[in-house]
Amino acid sequence: MIALSLAEIAAVVGGQTHDIPDPSVQVTGPVVRDSREVVPGSLFAAFVGERVDGHDYARAVTEAGAVAVLASRPVGVPAIVVEDVQTALGALARHVVRRLGATLVALTGSAGKTSTKDLIAQVLRRKAPTVFTPGSLNNEIGLPLTALSATEETRFLVLEMGARGIGHIRYLTGLTPPRIGLVLNVGSAHIGEFGGREQIAQAKGELVEALPPAEEGGVAVLNADDPLVRAMASRTKAKVVLFGESAEADVRAENVRLTDSGQPSFRLHTPSGASDLTMRLYGEHHVSNALAAAAVAHELGMSAEEIATALSEAGSLSRWRMEVTERPDGVTIVNDAYNANPESMRAALRALAAMGKGRRTWAVLGKMAELGDEALAEHDAVGRLAVRLNVSKLVAVGGIEASWLQLGAYNEGSWGEESVHVSDAQAAIDLLRSELRPGDVVLVKASRSVGLESVAQALVETG
Ligand code: ATP
Ligand code: MG
Repeated sequence: MIALSLAEIAAVVGGQTHDIPDPSVQVTGPVVRDSREVVPGSLFAAFVGERVDGHDYARAVTEAGAVAVLASRPVGVPAIVVEDVQTALGALARHVVRRLGATLVALTGSAGKTSTKDLIAQVLRRKAPTVFTPGSLNNEIGLPLTALSATEETRFLVLEMGARGIGHIRYLTGLTPPRIGLVLNVGSAHIGEFGGREQIAQAKGELVEALPPAEEGGVAVLNADDPLVRAMASRTKAKVVLFGESAEADVRAENVRLTDSGQPSFRLHTPSGASDLTMRLYGEHHVSNALAAAAVAHELGMSAEEIATALSEAGSLSRWRMEVTERPDGVTIVNDAYNANPESMRAALRALAAMGKGRRTWAVLGKMAELGDEALAEHDAVGRLAVRLNVSKLVAVGGIEASWLQLGAYNEGSWGEESVHVSDAQAAIDLLRSELRPGDVVLVKASRSVGLESVAQALVETG
């Protein structure tokens, strides 16, 4: 963080100082909410969670070197006391980003935010110091904490923003106003859900509404291949830059193909030149993510060659997203267990099909959460897609949703033993341990709450 005195912080957040002998003392080091991350110079933000109350750690963090605690009640050690710690953190972030010399890039979308954020960061940091959201900390707490980790040296601040409803992105952009805003995609297309998708588009489009006008450098980077995202062009005063495979895109890919190992290869076109590249990441969905990152980097002055080189060397910075492990016995494990929704399930299954040409493929899948009325139809559709892509075996893990996956597969291809339904992760591990043969490719994927990474890890260790 840029150094700020306790007096200044208290003024910015409208807080009362308590037990602070010298308000001119400065916070120099990160603002943290986890007591284990405190280092000398830190400001500790005390949140009251379901299981732990950060206030209980006030003394411990002070002993570890925290300059003060941002708290909602006096805690007997130096503290800035506010009504609401989250609001205070947001106000502090807003204050700090105004003083930074960094360009703020924000992105949102239904699938691929973290992957794309990591790509953008890996491209931009070749040009100048870049700070970006760690993992998926994209909400009203993670966002200010990320912004507060920027320093005077930071030139680019790349922020993932998650939209949970109308007004949410507007709130986040109020805290850290971006100059460049990127929207990746809006949910999955299907009939009957149009009202729902419109709502999602409404919420995500708040990002481009918040951008400064083109004359002031505002840039909206939009997916030309997604009609609901493309339509957001009318909601912004910023310059619009389109990316995608469609001919009208400013930044586009040509000759897209997947290598035999499932890595996308294509020719990147930007308004100022073109360059060929093959990615290290797996799955065709990364073409769209790479184009989005390229469009941002091009706006920030990087050439097609520089961007292509950076994209071809970029790896995944966040765990459990299409993490590929080759076992010594020739079994390939694809751990995509971080999360799942219908789009990302389809993308992962297609990647599995590409990687598994001529090999036996296994899709070990669990439920996709939060689909409401669509849940049955979506699980059924994923099961069917597995059959259409010629996946050799489907292992559906968990409760009722898993049986919908299996039923979809069964109905699509009259499958028998090709699909099995097991009750939990351990049952899946037992089954796979006894069935896997050299040369097999295994995809493991479900929503976060299913915790299927334990299956992927067990299989990786078995090898
Ligand atoms: P979250 O909302 O959980 O933060 P996210 O939007 O950050 O998710 P990622 O973590 O990057 O998304 O990826 C989640 C899943 O979506 C992964 O399984 C990944 O393989 C898949 N995915 C990544 N990019 C795309 C894309 N452009 N289209 C569809 N699926 C994608
Ligand atoms: Mg994410």
